[in-house]
Amino acid sequence: MIITVTLNPAIDKTIEIDGLTQGGLNKVVCSNTDPGGKGINVSKVIKSLGGESMATGLLGSSYIENALNKVGISHDFVRISGETRTNLKVFDRRTGETTEINESGPEVSMQDIDCLYEKIITHATAGSLIILSGSAPKSLPRDVYKTLIQKLKEKALKIFLDAEGDLFRQALEGKPHIIKPNRHELELYFERKLDTRTSLREASQHFIERGIEKVFISLGAEGAFYSDSKRSYYLNPLQVKAHSSVGAGDAFVGAVAYALENQYGLEKLLKMAVATSAGAVMTVGTKPMDSIWVLKNMEHVVVTAL
Ligand code: ATP
Ligand code: MG
Ligand code: MG
Repeated sequence: MIITVTLNPAIDKTIEIDGLTQGGLNKVVCSNTDPGGKGINVSKVIKSLGGESMATGLLGSSYIENALNKVGISHDFVRISGETRTNLKVFDRRTGETTEINESGPEVSMQDIDCLYEKIITHATAGSLIILSGSAPKSLPRDVYKTLIQKLKEKALKIFLDAEGDLFRQALEGKPHIIKPNRHELELYFERKLDTRTSLREASQHFIERGIEKVFISLGAEGAFYSDSKRSYYLNPLQVKAHSSVGAGDAFVGAVAYALENQYGLEKLLKMAVATSAGAVMTVGTKPMDSIWVLKNMEHVVVTAL
């Protein structure tokens, strides 16, 4: 059983323009609206790979629930007052770049988090994988993930954390089982450049010594890195025509979760994560990747032991 948790869901609106005129009028060539927010994106990736998950979190309007119903993703959110935020992604066809403009989210309180905790434990079974992903509304304390992790771990649940900044730093004190920072998030945490494999290995070691079992580091177009207490691997990226890196990390997390749920061996899991995230960068916005392409191309990922 996989449960994804999104504290700060969003309506993802992707618009395409043909060259951005700053300070002038821009015509939208096409636009697309999707249910979004990191955990929800992870649920979509798991679905595309043929797996099942349940999406939960804090939700204002019913737009996202309706959209999840349409794509067959089960969900049970804590309803809060206030509007769900909109995250705008502007894809410029001329430069191939995506600009993101995100709202910060509604007012919520730790009481909402207590309700969320109750929801999670009613749906989870022993050993369920709980994915805590993305930002939290500003009105919540920065140790919100730490609090949730500590309580969920008492119920013998497996925790997969994907967060950044203070949320990430404080969540680590709760000792999640799995983390997936990207390079930027790690550099923020360590306050230094991590541009060699040795530095990545040292960074992973730091987390493993603090009780984290599996450390995945995503390196964007440079691939990924994996470490646990016994081994470290570098994973080369797949060479693809990158359309938008938005959601690549969520695709990576979703694939890892799917592979763990299906008890894949480590090598197959790593290949699937790299291929799934490469598949995601080939699509615009948070559109799901082509799972057939993923299955065909995962064999091209080279897993190098360090
Ligand atoms: P997100 O914006 O979803 O949070 P992230 O910054 O957490 O993403 P990245 O490190 O950018 O995650 O990317 C995750 C994975 O996606 C990488 O480990 C890599 O496998 C794949 N990836 C990202 N960009 C590219 C690219 N240009 N070409 C091939 N693969 C890529
Ligand atoms: Mg990135
Ligand atoms: Mg990320």
